[in-house]
Amino acid sequence: MTEVIVVGGGIGGLALAHGLRGAGVGVRVFERDRQRSDRLQGFRIHLNPHGIAALAECLPAELLARVQASGGRGGDQFTFITERMKRLLHLDKDIIGSGHLGISRITLRQILLSDMDDVVRFDKRFTRYSHAPDGRVTAHFEDGTSATGDVLVGADGAGSKVCAQYLPHARREDTGIVSIAGKYMLTERNRELLPPALLSGPKSVLPPKSCGLFIAPHEFDGGVNDRDDPDALFDNTAPYLFWSFSAKREHYGADVDSLEAAGLHDLVLKLTVGWAPQLRALVALSDVDSTTRLPIRTSVPVPKWETSNVTVLGDAIHSMTPFRGIGANIALRDAQLLCRKLIEPERPLLSRIAEYEEAMIDYGFAAVRASLSTARQSVGDSRLARMAGRAAFRVMDAVPSLKRRAFSTIGT
Ligand SMILES: Cc1cc2nc3c(=O)[nH]c(=O)nc-3n(C[C@H](O)[C@H](O)[C@H](O)COP(=O)(O)OP(=O)(O)OC[C@H]3O[C@@H](n4cnc5c(N)ncnc54)[C@H](O)[C@@H]3O)c2cc1C
Repeated sequence: MTEVIVVGGGIGGLALAHGLRGAGVGVRVFERDRQRSDRLQGFRIHLNPHGIAALAECLPAELLARVQASGGRGGDQFTFITERMKRLLHLDKDIIGSGHLGISRITLRQILLSDMDDVVRFDKRFTRYSHAPDGRVTAHFEDGTSATGDVLVGADGAGSKVCAQYLPHARREDTGIVSIAGKYMLTERNRELLPPALLSGPKSVLPPKSCGLFIAPHEFDGGVNDRDDPDALFDNTAPYLFWSFSAKREHYGADVDSLEAAGLHDLVLKLTVGWAPQLRALVALSDVDSTTRLPIRTSVPVPKWETSNVTVLGDAIHSMTPFRGIGANIALRDAQLLCRKLIEPERPLLSRIAEYEEAMIDYGFAAVRASLSTARQSVGDSRLARMAGRAAFRVMDAVPSLKRRAFSTIGT
């Protein structure tokens, strides 16, 4: 029986592990830690129909049902507005299709970790791998322990150690874009201060200048309650609006890379002078301590490499900017495809891994390019180009067939 070692218990690695275990393949996941201390992990992510289909294939039915029950509201619409809150373009279910889901990243990971005590080993920080004379592969961990299997999958996210050893030429680069993100807690009082339109679904604010603001409500009717988990660092059920202001580094006119939370918060307020008071209130009344800087990086596509029994999935190989909201969906698609290949009987293992890699490199780096292009459009337009874009959005908004043609693949 094939034994698979997965390094990294994130979204892709855990989905793969569920799929393999469900098919009776031996699988162990080694995760560096259990601390959900990365603040960004608390944010909402958007799952599209492809990501949900991948989960449906990999997860037991009851876990899929928990994912679906944990989704937030407003995931099947998207609106572009001006900085004065005038509608530019609204995309509803008819345009983007149904089956989209907004879910807390922590919640998704918690669900994926359910019932995996026999598979996931925590506190295992991968350092390197080596090959035995019989071709099997051994993963070595910082605590001096190791694990040997027939296949090693690097699912250890952006900055992957597996990828660094296996494909040292694969790089990530800085896009020059920096996002500043925050949370506006939707307490009863705060809710009254904002117009209901801001709470109805994700929005992208396109001001005339070279910057943008993304807003997404994070509201749930039910689902996993992290407050029941004694180790939880977050109250994961409290509703909030997530916002993220993005611009090229030079647009900030300050050393954005060295500012603390309060300085980042002030900077966004300074750069949004003249915007609608409701949008400014959203930033002004946000929890200052939750303001976070996110330098936007992207992987650089690499050509197909020679296949071996070490492979990679998700952000470990094709990390992308978050501007299209598809990184996790692509990681799930990798997990689905690699799982199919690893459980296929009879044909040589390396041919099956090669088929996975060929397809994954193709769609994975296409997603990287698309995400980079969206990131650049979101912040990089000249004033003239931005005004022309806004005018085009207004026209499309009035002509559904144009909208459909231009936006049927948004979020996928
Ligand atoms: C602000 C933001 C918003 C986003 N929004 C969306 C969205 O709306 N939709 C979407 O599809 N995607 C979104 N993404 C992207 C998405 O989060 C990632 O693409 C996705 O998490 C990648 O999954 P993964 O399994 O490859 O990596 P991860 O989920 O990052 O998992 C990697 C795991 O490996 C572990 N690890 C790392 N190094 C080691 C080591 N040496 N040893 C052992 N374990 C290790 C880590 O602890 C982690 O658990 C967003 C990203 C950000 C930053």
